[in-house]
Amino acid sequence: MNFKDLGLDDQLMQAVERSGFEEATPIQAKTIPLVLSGLDVIGQAQTGTGKTAAFGLPLLQKIDYSERRIQTLIVSPTRELAIQTQEEIYKLGKEKLAKVQVVYGGANISRQIKQLKNYPPHILVGTPGRLLDHLKRHTVDLSHVETLVLDEADEMLDMGFLDDIDQIVAHLPQKHQTLLFSATMPSAILKIGKRLMHDPQIVKIKAKQLTTDLVDQYFVKVRDNEKFDVMTRILDVQAPDLTIVFGRTKRRVDELARGLEARGYNAAGIHGDLSQQQRSEVLKKFKNGDLDILVATDVAARGLDISGVSHVYNYDIPQDPESYVHRIGRTGRAGKHGVSVTFVTPNEMEYLRVIESLTRKRMLPLRPPTEKEAFAGQMNTALEEIRQLIDETDTDKYLTAANELTSEYSILDIAAALLNTMSKEDAVSKPVKITPERPLPRRKRKNQNCNKFKRLYDKRRSNGKREKIRRHHSEKYQAHRKKQRKSYKK
Ligand code: ADP
Ligand code: MG
Repeated sequence: MNFKDLGLDDQLMQAVERSGFEEATPIQAKTIPLVLSGLDVIGQAQTGTGKTAAFGLPLLQKIDYSERRIQTLIVSPTRELAIQTQEEIYKLGKEKLAKVQVVYGGANISRQIKQLKNYPPHILVGTPGRLLDHLKRHTVDLSHVETLVLDEADEMLDMGFLDDIDQIVAHLPQKHQTLLFSATMPSAILKIGKRLMHDPQIVKIKAKQLTTDLVDQYFVKVRDNEKFDVMTRILDVQAPDLTIVFGRTKRRVDELARGLEARGYNAAGIHGDLSQQQRSEVLKKFKNGDLDILVATDVAARGLDISGVSHVYNYDIPQDPESYVHRIGRTGRAGKHGVSVTFVTPNEMEYLRVIESLTRKRMLPLRPPTEKEAFAGQMNTALEEIRQLIDETDTDKYLTAANELTSEYSILDIAAALLNTMSKEDAVSKPVKITPERPLPRRKRKNQNCNKFKRLYDKRRSNGKREKIRRHHSEKYQAHRKKQRKSYKK
């Protein structure tokens, strides 16, 4: 869909051009005209489909730039996302000279206050907690807000944030436009969302070309206490460029990052307990390619726009299939191929099947590599690095020392020593302790209910009311089975 037909003005078309967007994504094509017309909109489309610009572009068009006051409020669940959104909207609003400010917790509040006062923004992006802080101090004035955006709306309307959101909304003028954008929208959340909205237009872009199409998905069945060794072997064999490893808990993320480092990998972790600065630093390094492996929790990695990730390892299988799609959507972007490996304990196999029924794609079983294969993988990587090193080395400079070395040792010994340092071989035996995590609770089998019917049936039958009961229950049972079969197909 062409951006030209969406009703955007010249300056915004310039911004689109400058950003290199060739055509509008489906969520953009559908929501931009609706937002421009002032309607309330619920927009749902998978991660990475340009939802920020979908609300950002029309918002930028609707602002009255002669008025220096907050006309749009965008609420984001995390600091990183708030910053990312502010940056994207600032970029899109350059031609308009839009002033976009971001406020989040963990940063100096008096500086934010000064800025809000001296250079009032047109658009304010913030996390709920810090926004409330400003509201309590009367350092932010939301009485002229015309549009409220809840980004990652499913999270914003979840129990953890709902109270905050309600309080923030109470500071807005009675009449305002409300936009909810999210990758997922469970129906309970949708209901809460609608309470905040007036006759919302719902735009849902089906994730039929799940990003997963470009991702080769594997799973490894492995006990929790063997996961770490198996993962490092797979790392050695697959030799990925940029990898994200997902762990279930913060502790897990810390231990994995430390363990990987101890084994000689270039890894660091991010999760909610790190300071804003620490997280930004890690992310920056990862984006620049100065870090090979990013270990993260779901929440910390949510919505982050990082390109070039070649491999996603699910050290722990996610509990809900939606987060699986979120996770592996970090790779296989922009038409590039990606690989995902999910580690599953034998007890958790049911979770794997549920995920497969959502993605409609089977994961291929991956046999854990042997030590020998891992070693071969390491050597391949080391050889590649050494070749490059040799090409880049100014031989003349080292001639004397090199002569001395070759007169004492055979070339083979020298090469072996080099291979030893260039590979992680020495670190392989470093003990790494990863605290065992309880496997996910056994999933309730879907046919538990029909067992209930069966039990009932058997019991009544023994009471002698055979015929009547059988008909009654078998009809009910059949209807139930039918429904169940349908839900399987879904
Ligand atoms: P989402 O919020 O849906 O996860 P983002 O808004 O973070 O996605 O956008 C992901 C990336 O796609 C960003 O780098 C953004 O600049 C880029 N992008 C947005 N719209 C387009 C477009 N129409 N064409 C190409 N890239 C786009
Ligand atoms: Mg987003």
